[in-house]
Amino acid sequence: MSEQKLLELRGLCVSYGPVEAVHQVDLEVRCGEIVTVIGPNGAGKTTLLSAAMGLLASRGEIALDGQRIARPSVEAMVAHGVALVPEKRELFGEMSVEDNLLLGGFSLWRKGQRDQGARMEEVFAIFPRLKERRAQLASTLSGGERQMLAIGRALMARPRLLMLDEPSLGLAPLIVKEVLQVVASLRNHGVSVLLVEQNARAALKVADRAYVLEMGAVALTGQARDLLGDQRIIETYLGMG
Ligand code: ATP
Repeated sequence: MSEQKLLELRGLCVSYGPVEAVHQVDLEVRCGEIVTVIGPNGAGKTTLLSAAMGLLASRGEIALDGQRIARPSVEAMVAHGVALVPEKRELFGEMSVEDNLLLGGFSLWRKGQRDQGARMEEVFAIFPRLKERRAQLASTLSGGERQMLAIGRALMARPRLLMLDEPSLGLAPLIVKEVLQVVASLRNHGVSVLLVEQNARAALKVADRAYVLEMGAVALTGQARDLLGDQRIIETYLGMG
């Protein structure tokens, strides 16, 4: 893993009207790292991720490759190689797997990179199940397959940093494991990951480092394996007294 910083958030604050939901968060993702943000319901995980993607206005600094982004916006983040898979997945149910993937590659196509077919084959190599079901309508996929398609669609744009909001939501434990293992393998394809999860145990098992968010602030940060072995974390977040 490289020490080079890909994403840095410094003193990030996000408000909804007069209410501040994220307070002074410092966070970084280095090249090749899988970093997870865990924490209870309403801790501000989705808000933090949305602000980091430029979807919500924030105060503080967002930097990519050591360069401060002056006006964070989705366009700016996408242009720097960042992609977000939102919690709701937002697939086009009446379109095939293949067409959903092609839409994910549209930003590259517009830039004149017309090798969509080759990229799709790379995504199919990561998610062989999607290849088997390439002609199937997205609405008829299983929950796990839909999540794989949402991730695959984001990968079509060849991101360097993939942000995932609760990919385990609504999935059976075995499928969660399968999806998160693929997420962890993305580093072998040159993709770093920022993974927001309420399923702390599953996230800590695949991540390198973790941030624990509580009431909008970072309560704890460290190596994922250390947090997995930490009694306070186990009692508070992993439901094992
Ligand atoms: P969950 O795991 O339940 O999705 P979370 O950690 O992602 O929770 P957020 O959804 O970021 O937490 O919410 C953080 C806080 O901000 C909560 O108190 C929530 O009620 C509030 N909040 C979220 N979205 C809005 C909004 N659009 N307007 C006002 N308040 C909001």
